[in-house]
Amino acid sequence: MNDDQLLRYSRHILLPEIGIEGQQRLCASRAVLIGAGGLGSPIALYLASAGVGRITLCDGDKVDLTNLQRQIVHRTESIGKDKTQSARTTLTSINPEVEVVALTERVAEERIRALAADADVVIDASDNFATRHAINRACVEHRTPLVSGAAVRFDGQVAVFDLRRDDAPCYACLFPEAGENEDMPCAVMGVFAPITGIIGTIQAAEALKLLLGIGELLNGRLLLIDALTMDLRTIRLKKDPACPVCSVR
Ligand SMILES: [Zn+2]
Repeated sequence: MNDDQLLRYSRHILLPEIGIEGQQRLCASRAVLIGAGGLGSPIALYLASAGVGRITLCDGDKVDLTNLQRQIVHRTESIGKDKTQSARTTLTSINPEVEVVALTERVAEERIRALAADADVVIDASDNFATRHAINRACVEHRTPLVSGAAVRFDGQVAVFDLRRDDAPCYACLFPEAGENEDMPCAVMGVFAPITGIIGTIQAAEALKLLLGIGELLNGRLLLIDALTMDLRTIRLKKDPACPVCSVR
């Protein structure tokens, strides 16, 4: 590490759990982030500022005026531009040391499988069940750890699926693909701006811990947050032995 890097990351390096070795590990890590919206914004900001070496960012949308209330990686002057390019500009201005790969597309099954195969962690900040299940299938197939989050109205949830472990449940153990899970888009339901920041920031923290191999992950646990009451609850998740996605691998 050069002098600038030692200064840039000094407050991480000071932590005995991270140190120079941990920081170098982050700098050599590859993260895939699906979604550059409300959750993806704080996730991308923290991964980039913390020096995660390569961040692959996938989103097919363009920045809209209605996004700016919570999607803090984007700026008013970016309205009409691709979210991935807009985010890339912000991230690179914060930390030019990191490589930001911008994939301007709604991720399809094939693409997400290739991405999961070449990532240390996949972070799901998407907004619909079809994409979440496609991401989960790809992560199960390649045993890539998955950090999953969702937020709508005043409610949010986070879970980690450490699919490197045989006993880890997967997203489909929690929400079966055949289940009656209806998408609840923020455009219809509304969303309290900071809940996306709270959930996204927890996702970023879990992803960084996972890359560093420190602490205890939210693996096999679902954290539920109600921002109206600030009640936090954790539910234990069990691997479903009959799960059609992870029980057959
Ligand atoms: Zn499963």
